[in-house]
Amino acid sequence: MKKFYVTTPIYYTNGPPHLGHAYTTIAADVIARFKKIQGFDVFFLTGTDEHCQKVEKAAKEAGKTPIQFVNEIVQQYKELWVELDIEYDKFIRTTDSYHEKAVQNIFQQMYDAGLIYKGKYEGWYCVPCETFLTDSQLVNGKCPDCGRDVKREQEESYFFKLSTYRKKLQKLFEENKQFVQPNSRWHEAYNFFKDELRDLSVSRKNVKWGIPVPFDKEHVIYVWLDALFNYLTAIEYDGKNPKSANNFWPADVHLVGKEIAKFHAVYWPAMLWAVGLKEPKQVYAHGWWTIEGDKMSKSKGNYVEPHAVIAKYGCDAFRYFLLRENTFGEDGDYSQKSFDARYNGELADEFGNLANRTLVMLNRYCNGKVPPKPKTSKLQKTVEEKVKLYEDKMEAYQFNRALEETWSIIKEANKLVNDSEPWKLAKEGKQKEVENVMYELCESLRITAVLLYPFMPSSSERLYNALGLKEVKKIKLKQCKWGEIKEGKQTAEKLVLFPKIQ
Ligand SMILES: [Zn+2]
Repeated sequence: MKKFYVTTPIYYTNGPPHLGHAYTTIAADVIARFKKIQGFDVFFLTGTDEHCQKVEKAAKEAGKTPIQFVNEIVQQYKELWVELDIEYDKFIRTTDSYHEKAVQNIFQQMYDAGLIYKGKYEGWYCVPCETFLTDSQLVNGKCPDCGRDVKREQEESYFFKLSTYRKKLQKLFEENKQFVQPNSRWHEAYNFFKDELRDLSVSRKNVKWGIPVPFDKEHVIYVWLDALFNYLTAIEYDGKNPKSANNFWPADVHLVGKEIAKFHAVYWPAMLWAVGLKEPKQVYAHGWWTIEGDKMSKSKGNYVEPHAVIAKYGCDAFRYFLLRENTFGEDGDYSQKSFDARYNGELADEFGNLANRTLVMLNRYCNGKVPPKPKTSKLQKTVEEKVKLYEDKMEAYQFNRALEETWSIIKEANKLVNDSEPWKLAKEGKQKEVENVMYELCESLRITAVLLYPFMPSSSERLYNALGLKEVKKIKLKQCKWGEIKEGKQTAEKLVLFPKIQ
């Protein structure tokens, strides 16, 4: 079976998970589930990056030790992933001992190969981003990533010979424009190294919370070297032997926020080459959310609390909205008005209503059973075309487009109900015609359930069950051919997937 490896970034543990974390993880879950129904053997990794400097500070402020502090945060992540129906295969913590040991081995290996040397580093330092910056990188004297003040710092540090890899990176980027997506991020990363690429400081003094450099206990390993290798230690890489990683490497796609695209697109391939491993196939960066047109800020009350949204609308509606509302890869705006419009309009009125009225009519006119397949079909052609388009869009991570294709099936089916008016046909005694319409609706709903499964797994399963079928997650996309639903299946009397909310 062909393999597919998808990852989220590992998230900082200096605070509880928010909308941004939920977004990336839902997207990864959608990809993982889609690849499974496509027939791939999938590995989906998520986890937490626990050695960031901000943890030391946040733990101190909370009167806790760093490990106590991160344990609580990790728990919150895991609980949210359960609430959001995230079906990951592994949750890695960078404080896991196998990871720490492997990262030390990696550092030792690079040092022994002459790819890490001791030097002195001086530069502008952004504490929240844990990044040294050059003069040219500053924007109005401030950190280009977070916009905060930077300070001049100098310290003894170990350096990774990143500069050695500039030509090889150039070749990778030029030969593979898909390596970083969307295109704007490809250009950003390419411009970052194309003229000059400096060696990278990969150790920190005066930091206790981190993985110690194996041969120099005064230093801990730079958090990005530690963190990036999670994608490999999670699949059994021991830090010594490139063959120890299992055959899910190279990863098919690393999903990242745009603010960390550079680390994944530039530093990461170089670090992998340094230990004799291949670069990942793709780094895909998504955009940021504004809330009601403004920057997300807890103090301004401009904040989306995932638990509250799930409690009110259900997890599937939240998953649906985030991937439907904007183009993956671009920035988007989260507004209550738009959420309600999509919930009541698309989920309740269009999709939910189609499902419910089909079941009610099946009961009224066909004894609650799927009728026989008619010789000709009004919807078959549209549905088969849309399934194909859906698959293309999903492969390109154009989730909103894939949902649009699915929605055109729903719209066509609703139109068929309105145009054919089964209740009139029944009154006129045209039973065969009623049955033909009902079959088309059942089959359209079955296929819709499969297409929506990656986005809304539990609603999709409920619909599937209501049609007398079982375990939509085991169905393959190949089975979305028209005419597979069998005559005589006992269906549910009704189904309210998305109750309207005022
Ligand atoms: Zn910063």
